[in-house]
Amino acid sequence: MYRVALASRPEGAPKPENFRYEPQEMPVPGDGEVLVRVHYMSLDPYMRGRMDDAESYSDPVPVGGTMEAGGVGEVIASNSPHFKPGDFAFGMFGWATHGVQPAKMLRKIDPAHGPITTALGVLGMPGLTGWFGLMEHGKPKAGETLVVAAATGPVGSMVGQIAKGLGLRVVGVAGGADKCRMAVDTFGFDACLDHRAYDTASDLRKALAAECPDGIDIYFENVGGKVLSAVLPLMNRFGRIPICGMIAWYNAGGLGSGAQDPDVTGPKLWRTILVKFLSVNGFIISNHFDRMGEFLTTVGPKVANGDVAYVEDIAEGLENAPKAFMAMLKGGNTGKQIVKLI
Ligand code: NDP
Repeated sequence: MYRVALASRPEGAPKPENFRYEPQEMPVPGDGEVLVRVHYMSLDPYMRGRMDDAESYSDPVPVGGTMEAGGVGEVIASNSPHFKPGDFAFGMFGWATHGVQPAKMLRKIDPAHGPITTALGVLGMPGLTGWFGLMEHGKPKAGETLVVAAATGPVGSMVGQIAKGLGLRVVGVAGGADKCRMAVDTFGFDACLDHRAYDTASDLRKALAAECPDGIDIYFENVGGKVLSAVLPLMNRFGRIPICGMIAWYNAGGLGSGAQDPDVTGPKLWRTILVKFLSVNGFIISNHFDRMGEFLTTVGPKVANGDVAYVEDIAEGLENAPKAFMAMLKGGNTGKQIVKLI
């Protein structure tokens, strides 16, 4: 089997030398454990955080350790009555072609219900994140206006489609004209703005104001940076900001130069939250995996009948995972980034 290890901690954006692709001995499942041959592996922005030795909601990957990832694959050996060879399962197998996990840490996947890749995106952790964050913290109401960036990614596209289905005006922000077209044509957003087309937050704000004539009631925070600066002054009273991620700052140790933007400095931000009576809620989806069943029951049929669309971007080969990951952090992916291992 092969894996990708964290060779060294990055400073700023990850580089190829921070990763090491190498052979490893095949793990042997113990009592109650299952060996899976991974077919598809997920690449997610949170993995950038795991590369830093900084305090966070989760421990970092140790230098020399296998990079963390969810994957979906076929059971090839099982010491659990709950799985047999030939079953498909989702689990945290890491950046690796094979993995052993206790059966209780695996989710059985039925390939008859659709492509198994959907367990990594639209019907997996990112889809759940978008749905949960919107419903629980966004508290959407028909007629309101929502803004979400990284609009064509698995989180943003879920947020936008669920909100649209509930009767909100949905404005996306995405990188490039093609992604903006996709947000509107494929995911049904009312409008989408290309953040790269505006040099400053105030230029982007003017364009957003034109697309949000009644102000913004929900800003689903995926990116921070320039988009946050552009949005904040446009928030309506009693607006909601579910804080899901801030990818614009991930390469800067959490607080990059974007945090110095005059509209988002501590006192101004704090005052805006007060005078506009905003509800700002950070959340990490791993605390809410108990909602997966409800999510699959609610959103699964919408995916099956096409009401909720999804787009996947599939790289080939574990050895190419670092390249795909580094590109994703800069917007190189179009849709959910996945790596095909076999
Ligand atoms: P995506 O597949 O959308 O990939 C990340 C995207 O972020 C890129 O494609 C790019 O899109 C956008 N991006 C990168 N840099 C910037 C920037 N400086 N300004 C604006 N956009 C930028 O990712 P996901 O849908 O998987 O995740 C979206 C967010 O949700 C991330 O911040 C992630 O960390 C967070 N998340 C949080 C979870 C939680 O539990 N709280 C769980 C899962 C995800 P574009 O080209 O359109 O700019």
